[in-house]
Amino acid sequence: MSINSEMTTTTHTTATRSVESTIPVGAIFAPGTVLDLSGPLAGGVIVQDDTIAPLAPWSARLRAGQVLTIVDVGGNQSADFLVYNADDTDERYSVPDTLAWQGNAYLRDGSVLRSNTGRALMTVVGNEIDRQDTIGGACSKESNTLRYGFHTEHQHGCRENFLAEAARHGLGARDLVSNINWFMNVPVEQDGALGIVDGISGPGKRVAIRADMDVLVLISNCPQMNNPCNDFNCTPLRAIITEADGTATA
Ligand SMILES: [Zn+2]
Repeated sequence: MSINSEMTTTTHTTATRSVESTIPVGAIFAPGTVLDLSGPLAGGVIVQDDTIAPLAPWSARLRAGQVLTIVDVGGNQSADFLVYNADDTDERYSVPDTLAWQGNAYLRDGSVLRSNTGRALMTVVGNEIDRQDTIGGACSKESNTLRYGFHTEHQHGCRENFLAEAARHGLGARDLVSNINWFMNVPVEQDGALGIVDGISGPGKRVAIRADMDVLVLISNCPQMNNPCNDFNCTPLRAIITEADGTATA
């Protein structure tokens, strides 16, 4: 599905009068923005289907075997991502364990997301862009003011999104660890330097991750507007949880 979003005049109607306003209802997208909600990248039945608003956090518990499809609805929109063992959140995603185990700096189809004890939390079972980042880290109010100036101090970042969403599950600052940035393009150069550059994703591109144990997933729909990680146009994400249809025959 494709939706073209353009600024329009909105009519607000009350019981007594009608007011013309140029203030749009909902998010403002750059002219020409294409939103493609796509659909699940895994088979089975849909058990949860949410749209994550631009700039907002989201979380869900997945049972082992369920698959989370994340859709880059507007293209080049970073989905900052953390995952925990749902029954013991001291066991959580580990970048060094994940990368050392697979011997590759990027996440790709088949990558196993490993915990700080080396166990498999989730596995990438579908991936529609070449490589996914888990080195670039999450933005925050502090890093924004350091990198871009104090005038950005009013903007919240992924760290603030994570803290707000983590609090709903009894987690706090000590529980936030290095994360994954689905759909964010962070090439590692020959000399080891990192860059955050315009994306290799596009509207409707998807990644699918299967839970290998019962997990808690946190997502920050990245609010960053000071570098190209979101193409300077923060757009929605779609999060779809599917599970195998119990009536299917092996
Ligand atoms: Zn961010």
